[in-house]
Amino acid sequence: MSSPVVTRFAPSPTGFLHIGGARTALFNWAFAKNQDGKMLLRIEDTDRERSTEEAVAAILEGLKWLGLEWDGAAVSQYSRVTRHREMAEELLKRGKAYYCYCTPAELDAMRAKAEAERRPIRYDGTWRDRDPSTAPAGIKPVVRFRAPQDGETVIQDHAQGRVVIPNKDLDDLIILRSDGNPTYNLSVVVDDHDMGVTHIIRGVDHLTNAARQMQIYMAMGWDVPSMTHVPLIHGPDGAKLSKRHGALGVEAYRAMGYLPAALRNYLARLGWSHGDDEIFSTEQLVEWFTLGGIGKSAARFDFAKLENLNGHYIRHTPDSELLLHFKSFLPHVEGGEALLEALTPELETKLLLSLPGLKERAKTLVELMASARYLFAKRPLSLDDKANALLNEEGKAALKGAHEVLAAAAEWSGPALEAAVKAHAEAAGMKLGKIAQPLRAALTGTSTSPGIFDVLEVLGPEESLGRIADQLKN
Ligand code: GLU
Repeated sequence: MSSPVVTRFAPSPTGFLHIGGARTALFNWAFAKNQDGKMLLRIEDTDRERSTEEAVAAILEGLKWLGLEWDGAAVSQYSRVTRHREMAEELLKRGKAYYCYCTPAELDAMRAKAEAERRPIRYDGTWRDRDPSTAPAGIKPVVRFRAPQDGETVIQDHAQGRVVIPNKDLDDLIILRSDGNPTYNLSVVVDDHDMGVTHIIRGVDHLTNAARQMQIYMAMGWDVPSMTHVPLIHGPDGAKLSKRHGALGVEAYRAMGYLPAALRNYLARLGWSHGDDEIFSTEQLVEWFTLGGIGKSAARFDFAKLENLNGHYIRHTPDSELLLHFKSFLPHVEGGEALLEALTPELETKLLLSLPGLKERAKTLVELMASARYLFAKRPLSLDDKANALLNEEGKAALKGAHEVLAAAAEWSGPALEAAVKAHAEAAGMKLGKIAQPLRAALTGTSTSPGIFDVLEVLGPEESLGRIADQLKN
């Protein structure tokens, strides 16, 4: 039996969990789940200047919100620095690495020469075969990897296919700096090996690193994990993803009112496909996910598509579940905290009752919040400009008529009230809209809202008639 699948997500905590990172995490998670394996989490916090605790917290929070739980405790790469150093020593011992005593001035000269000769800048191997006993005094050496100079490094990549990198293009990489700190590629290899990672799935921007890392694996005599380098995410115009086009942290998507399930579905389709399927559940994603389904060309981020998908998810989420999402969303949006505080059990019942109507029109939880605001409003309502305009003389006259009809209603239900108001409009020779719009203004303080008879039913007779009477007083 082959060994169980172990994937890992390895973010650098130098900022939020951005959308590309979230997709990488999703692919690692879905593949691990599909294979009954594990997804580990490693925080690549070796850059002490740029790594922050807030960023670590934001990444963990973002993953949890997206429903991408990892297995075991998150590993801090920095905490493993001693082990990385040991492995640099081991490579030295095996003759697979060497001390390099080049001074900064020498390296500058090397760079300038390469530039003048229009060659790519590479370390020229000065100390590769030189006797360290000839080292100049007072220079703290770095440790460089003795990279193979001939032949090629071949990556059998699940997304990119067979990638061949001539070894002459890869110079002798520094693996330990002169201050004794290991460099990135060494740490990643040692960690992936020690964590038992069998499959590496990450952005295609790491492809060159992959070749260097493979060389280190081979020098250590370790098995090289399977590699999948996922294409980048571009903006809708095909250019690099900009903030305006979606290069934001996951928490921004949360605040924009997207549901985690919708975002999972959307992200899955950025670079991965299963036939023509566009809308699928997370269970289906897990069932269908294969590395072969990951494409080679860049994916395009499209907000309109995400919104539509989110609208679909909102409509299809059971009301009680949607209410929970809505409540956990509120603290993340401006003005949401106040609504959450105002949400008494009574109001919560009303909100739940109104959700079937509200969710038909909302593409995001932000829109849902806007259309549910009338429930939270306190009498006397303050009206927006459009609502005020609707309550001109003619509007008020219509509102007065409606008040009488509603006050006399025998049954307070949406359909019954609708029938009564329609009969009244017909008898008065008025179009229904001439009554419904002033009613909407008085009941919600706005000119747009869910179906006005739903609003009446949810608010109940006392509150509805009170709100209407408030406007008739002025
Ligand atoms: N820490 C790297 C990043 O955030 C990922 C490294 C890897 O997956 O090997 O881009």
